Amino acid sequence: MKRFKLRRYLAYLLIVLLIFSISVGCTEEDTPEDTTENGANPDGADENDNETDENKPEDNDEYSIKDLNEQLVMATTWYQNSAEMRALSYQAFNLAKMVYDMDLNNNDSDEKRAVIVDVDETVLDNSPYEAGLIGSDYAYPTGWDDWINSAEGTALPGSIEFLNYVVENGGDVFYVSNRKIHLLEGTMENLEKLGFPQVKEENILLREETSDKGPRREIVDENHRIVLLMGDNLNDFDSAFGDKNIEDRFEVTDTNKDKFGTKFIVLPNPMYGEWEGALYDYEWGISNEEKSQKRKAPLNTWIVE
Ligand SMILES: [Mg+2]
Repeated sequence: MKRFKLRRYLAYLLIVLLIFSISVGCTEEDTPEDTTENGANPDGADENDNETDENKPEDNDEYSIKDLNEQLVMATTWYQNSAEMRALSYQAFNLAKMVYDMDLNNNDSDEKRAVIVDVDETVLDNSPYEAGLIGSDYAYPTGWDDWINSAEGTALPGSIEFLNYVVENGGDVFYVSNRKIHLLEGTMENLEKLGFPQVKEENILLREETSDKGPRREIVDENHRIVLLMGDNLNDFDSAFGDKNIEDRFEVTDTNKDKFGTKFIVLPNPMYGEWEGALYDYEWGISNEEKSQKRKAPLNTWIVE
């Protein structure tokens, strides 16, 4: 009788252990291997945001965020250390002044002029945040708010002078950025201490409901004539560029070719942007390894025999 009870007890124990091991196995399988949304960018669409740290790589993740971050080295080094980058920035703002001057000389409309600029990688340089990702096991948006609130972004060469010129010559400047609205204070502090003009709430249109900048451009358009727009991301110019694959982005760019340098002025940003989302078909939740593969897949390659 005693032996029978012991056997029954052991059988129960075995069943409990079996159920436990099955449930642990399922949990592991259900856990995403990798970051769900990590690696989206400051210009990114709403669905790219994930403000938690839950998506740290697992210990057994063979290709980690840190590995992927290593790919930022050349772009970020170029951005910070090439004189060509500075030259391109001056070139953009010199061209902007020429366009603005042409409008001053040739258009006598009574409507007030406006210049719309994006903030990140258009007037403020956030490359120290990008550089901080290299060698680290985190990705955007981890630490992004802290970076903005530090107000340590520097000005892109030529930007402060041009925007002050606009205001001194009767125009208004609007900063239309996809930084989220809770970052307004840090953004204003940064712009103000660098000497940018018109740093006031009504001129800084951050992201509230949608990452589509179209509705915010319309607000500016209600009381102004928009002379030119500046940005590092095609979505900074027209909503028609949004949510397109690589080929379609080329096509819309070709369709709008006459506007580049006359109404739209582009600044370089090889570190991140909507162009990266297009590589992944905007599926930011794919694994780090898949991201690396999708970055390499569209390369036009010539192999040495
Ligand atoms: Mg930008």
